[in-house]
Amino acid sequence: MIVSKQIHKPRLVLVVDDQEINRDALGIILEEDYSVIYASNGKEALDMIRENANDLSIVMLDLMMPVMNGFEVLEVMKGDANMKNIPVIVLTAEKNAELKALQMGAADFITKPFDVHEVILARVGRIIELSEGRRLISAAETDELTKLYSRNFFFEYANRLYTYHPELKLDAIVINIEQFHSINEVNGRKFGDEVLKLIGEEIKVFLFDSQGIACRFDSDRFGIYCVHHDDYTPLLEKLLKRVNGISEKVKIGLRMGVKPWREGIEPILMFDHASAACSMVRGDYQNPIMVYNDDMGARDHLNRMLLNDLHQAIEKKQLHIYYQPKYDIQCDPPRLCSAEALIRWNHPELGLILPATFIPLFEGNGLIGLIDDYVWHEAAEQVAKWKKKYGISFPVSVNVSRPDVFDLTFTEKLKRLINDNRLDYKDVKLEITESAYTDNAKYLIDVIESLRETGFEIEMDDFGSGYSSLNMISSMPIDVLKMDMKFIRNIEKSETDRRLVNLILDIAKYLNVTVVAEGVETEGQMRLLRNAGCDMVQGFYFSRPLPAEDFEKLIEREITEERK
Ligand code: C2E
Ligand code: MG
Ligand code: MG
Repeated sequence: MIVSKQIHKPRLVLVVDDQEINRDALGIILEEDYSVIYASNGKEALDMIRENANDLSIVMLDLMMPVMNGFEVLEVMKGDANMKNIPVIVLTAEKNAELKALQMGAADFITKPFDVHEVILARVGRIIELSEGRRLISAAETDELTKLYSRNFFFEYANRLYTYHPELKLDAIVINIEQFHSINEVNGRKFGDEVLKLIGEEIKVFLFDSQGIACRFDSDRFGIYCVHHDDYTPLLEKLLKRVNGISEKVKIGLRMGVKPWREGIEPILMFDHASAACSMVRGDYQNPIMVYNDDMGARDHLNRMLLNDLHQAIEKKQLHIYYQPKYDIQCDPPRLCSAEALIRWNHPELGLILPATFIPLFEGNGLIGLIDDYVWHEAAEQVAKWKKKYGISFPVSVNVSRPDVFDLTFTEKLKRLINDNRLDYKDVKLEITESAYTDNAKYLIDVIESLRETGFEIEMDDFGSGYSSLNMISSMPIDVLKMDMKFIRNIEKSETDRRLVNLILDIAKYLNVTVVAEGVETEGQMRLLRNAGCDMVQGFYFSRPLPAEDFEKLIEREITEERK
């Protein structure tokens, strides 16, 4: 053995290879800096590792060997408390074997025939440094529940693949569960854990056929770094099928963001982009997969800003409630009878922001509850004020989003709202968007029925915008149906749309449900609707949504009209 140049005791390296020529080649490179011992098969290697467990800095392990191969050695090492933290660099001539070895816990790999000396020394040095720096890279760094890699290990590993294996051209994928907090809330944590576990399992099945690695980033976010696929729909479908197999009663949605490989983009940025794409899916249930494009960077930046600023916006009263009137058009002249509360965010830097920009974002992350609570309180207070000031009630409808319904305190909260403001249940109406009805119909119907028994009126919002069929409304406990704008838009030009509107009105009449047409902008549309028997209209034709003080002018005008 060549005496080491180092003054301190040299670190101990074990080289395991069945070919003498390889052992010699590595020895020449390593003995300059390390104290090297040798084994010629897996069995011999394990004996030496056991014996030197406390002193060994690294094992250089050939994979293809007689008696006991490298994979078997890795397996034994990773299952042994004394050996599992000793880093292993595998020596291989075969691409596929490398990934498998890494998945089994190897820290790095060196390809045969051996690279340039400096490269080998640098890589050995780095791995030793990493392991001594307590940044132990071991297969044990997995997430308890899903058995996928932990975030830190995943990125460590991904960086390594990126640096040493650029030819793999890996895509980044982020998967997120829709409304995971509601799923947990309604079905219990155990159920939620089961969902996470199954996703982990299915991702592993996927990685069986496609080279790559995966992790759980945090509660319900998963990452996959894998060789390029043109289309990840089959993976998403398999995941959906698996998680929706748990229970027929609970419908679970997933969204997926994809950042396809691009030269020179590091894993961390690849995953930032995939996350941005994933968050764009929010609110778009028809297209649960989004592939990153450069506009999303800007949108992602905006989302982060909004997330950051929400609490402050509530504290500083930057959220304003506008009121858009609903008119009864069967009266002549049409009569103002109620309003819808619509939120606007007056952001100090961005100016006035409409709900479409931020509601879907907050619906996806559990913060929507904060906003809706705020709106409900403001609206209820406003109704109480008007009741006192004018002596009559102008009921206000508030929007209820999907996650609100799954909040177990939902009904109680609303009851308290009414009682605290000394209102009648009829003074605050609840608009629930049509798409919520298709999610978890049984649960929703139960909640709605109990609200109606209490005395609340329920309006089905955006009817016709989603999947629900006409016959579905017959089984839904609702008081009011709000016909989506898309039916109204072309009503003057399109015979088909007119017929559709008439059909909806007929069914609603039969079911004894009031119909509000949304998005009415012209007198022509209003007349057609009136003649067809539509009860109420909301739209720019009568008024845009207004701040409370402007809405008061409408109330005052209405009162003067009535006195005439
Ligand atoms: P929505 O509940 O269906 O509300 C009606 C939307 O149609 C409002 O948009 C309103 O300004 C718009 N609109 C009314 N008349 C016309 C018209 O004649 N023409 C056109 N083109 N548009 C008209 P806005 O205020 O931007 O709100 C969009 C959506 O955001 C709402 O749809 C609702 O789903 C949601 N939203 C608004 N405020 C809240 C809130 O406080 N909480 C929750 N969860 N969602 C809210
Ligand atoms: Mg609404
Ligand atoms: Mg609507």
